Amino acid sequence: MTQCLFCRIVKKEIPGRIVYEDEAVVAFEDINPQAPVHILVVPRKHVDSLMNLTQGDKELMGSLFMVANELAKTHDLNPSGFRAVINTGPGGGQTVYHLHVHLMGGRQMTWPPG
Ligand code: AMP
Ligand code: ZN
Repeated sequence: MTQCLFCRIVKKEIPGRIVYEDEAVVAFEDINPQAPVHILVVPRKHVDSLMNLTQGDKELMGSLFMVANELAKTHDLNPSGFRAVINTGPGGGQTVYHLHVHLMGGRQMTWPPG
């Protein structure tokens, strides 16, 4: 059994509030939401971080962002706007080492982020 938290959610070994899934991508609600809408969009395939992508992951990354695009529509984040972010490494604030896009919206996002 894998020890990766998000692999376990993807495989439904532990519960997650899944809002979308297809053959390559799964999206679920963040357990500690930082905005009224806070969804994590993850590849089914385990990739540690943005820095572990390879040339063969190009289509997968396109799929990840197309799912973010669809979820932004279905969660009424467009045209008001939202944030899609990939924290990478310790300095980027990454805490779970399974690549994920944070899709956050439903409030005014501020810049710079903390
Ligand atoms: P990051 O810090 O960018 O690696 O983001 C990890 C995110 O995963 C955080 O926003 C956490 O709140 C979220 N998280 C941690 N455990 C779970 C879980 N069991 N289900 C859903 N989201 C989680
Ligand atoms: Zn994983």
